Amino acid sequence: MATKSHTRKKLRRQDTLHHVAHADLPSKWGKFKIHGFTGKSPQEEAVALVRGNLAGRSAPLVRVHSQCLTGDVLNSLRCDCRAQLELSLKNIAKAPSGVLLYLPQEGRGIGLMNKLRAYQLQDQGMDTVEANEALGFASDAREYEFPAEILKQLGARKIRLLSNNPEKVRQLEKFGIQVIERVPCQPRVSKISRKYLKTKKSKMGHLLKGV
Ligand SMILES: [Zn+2]
Repeated sequence: MATKSHTRKKLRRQDTLHHVAHADLPSKWGKFKIHGFTGKSPQEEAVALVRGNLAGRSAPLVRVHSQCLTGDVLNSLRCDCRAQLELSLKNIAKAPSGVLLYLPQEGRGIGLMNKLRAYQLQDQGMDTVEANEALGFASDAREYEFPAEILKQLGARKIRLLSNNPEKVRQLEKFGIQVIERVPCQPRVSKISRKYLKTKKSKMGHLLKGV
């Protein structure tokens, strides 16, 4: 029974994954193809930056990056998101093949306004996990079935994952992606982000050096 319902669920998910468009995307790290996908609802969307043949002989280098407006765009030093994004693109551009999935999961899935509410609580002394929980959210509300289905559709079933988060490895494997190697993704630690990274390490099991 469990297998049947799992298959039904899988079929539903594949039916709802929609490849919207693809185009060239030259960047300062090299040439990528950008692909747009939507999921269950038009609000569930993601882009994939792809280089090389993802279904080729060597496993592609993959980063599943959650959107962080304050870090990625506004250069905030409260977190290490932008530094991880840049490091990932640089490494993927050097690899034989790879993909960066960019997911609008702001604030580990709680949304931008709630992330700002959490920042306010952090300024009053809470850490990132306590703040999310005080607002009634899980410390990590991200969902990995959608990114896993995109990777499969792109032909990247066996991957090397750029991440410091063992939970991300477990989640992608749960949805059928084989992670043959976890490649650390750790930029230099800034003084400001050290406290945030310490919480990620001690409360969320992230594997970080020198924090
Ligand atoms: Zn961030």
